[in-house]
Amino acid sequence: MPRTAASPLPLVSPLPRAAGGDRRRATAGAVLRSVLAHGPVARSTVARLTGLSPASVTEHCARLGALGLIREEAAPRRSNGVGRPHLPIDLDTGRFVVGAVHVAVPYTTVALLDLRGRVLVRRELGHGDTDPVRVAARAAEALAALLGRFPERRPLGVGCAVGGWVDREAGTVVEHEPLGWREVPVRALLEDRTGLPVHVDGHARALLHAERLFGRARESGSVLHLFVGNVVDAAFATGDEVHHGPRSQAGAIGHLPVPGGTEPCPCGRTGCLQAELSERTLCRRARAAGVADGTNPMHVVHAAAAGDALARRLLVERARTTGRAAGLLLDVLNPESLVVTEVGVLHFEDCLRALRESAGIHRTATVAPTSFRDSVLAVAGGSVILDVLFRDPLAVSPEAI
Ligand SMILES: [Zn+2]
Repeated sequence: MPRTAASPLPLVSPLPRAAGGDRRRATAGAVLRSVLAHGPVARSTVARLTGLSPASVTEHCARLGALGLIREEAAPRRSNGVGRPHLPIDLDTGRFVVGAVHVAVPYTTVALLDLRGRVLVRRELGHGDTDPVRVAARAAEALAALLGRFPERRPLGVGCAVGGWVDREAGTVVEHEPLGWREVPVRALLEDRTGLPVHVDGHARALLHAERLFGRARESGSVLHLFVGNVVDAAFATGDEVHHGPRSQAGAIGHLPVPGGTEPCPCGRTGCLQAELSERTLCRRARAAGVADGTNPMHVVHAAAAGDALARRLLVERARTTGRAAGLLLDVLNPESLVVTEVGVLHFEDCLRALRESAGIHRTATVAPTSFRDSVLAVAGGSVILDVLFRDPLAVSPEAI
């Protein structure tokens, strides 16, 4: 939807198709999120949780039920034995799937998720090359094959998560240094090839959506998510609002200087956060130390798990550096929760401890690794479109397709 001059980019981002202040659609999202978090749940409880009137909740539930997004539970809970029994409602996870695409530096992950963010099936596609047209074509082809395995489920659309600077409104990857992508129209490429609605977002924000919808951060009033892979970036939310900023540029922390950093960065400086922490740097240091060959950080994790002290030290040191960056961000944002997606922190308690210590967690923030240890990239992709669904169910409803 084109924006007018009188409608500047909002800090909080209503979905393009919900622009114009359609409050009714937003309240449908509130009802659906309430059912996600508490289902099976009575309509009266949804009314209490959302602050909507019972009549309004009943109306929304009828609409969401007609769309096939929620259903009444079979087991009735009788209300005083009089009149129609009050049936609790829950998400209907059996009818639909969403497609997920996550583009990492060495490979693309494609997957199908249900409405609770559970991964039903996934595949990893190595990049023969990183030409965006061919990456999108391979992802679309693989998604079609996965959908063929679930003929009884209808796809609501595709979410695509990519690292670097992603403009969600435009559906483009503005800049992704390690992939060599600049102004790549990912949404258009995938929509052309899948024939499905596609939503695109940065992967740190995508995982923030996932934590808030399906993960540990559900109860947090404010959350900071730090993603440390080959790309390093951050995302922040207060309440239901994920901060994007103009052109979705928030969270670009890759060139934050790390005190004492020694790695040269493509930007010309030394010791930038992304250069220090990238998986490539970790793997290069591991090769130099004779710990593990290749470019897969999981090989370093496996070596550490097998008792290799050098491997463990490399991971703890990386966690410590991550913690220093986290400490700077915590000072600025003071969130209730910090969620970190980083391989060492995910697998080793002493890495998490090192991160906490160097972040200076004497404040109130809880610090935890990602909730999606075994499926983080698939969940990131799928959560881009699930976030859209749970904000504005009608934007991703079967009627809209
Ligand atoms: Zn730099």
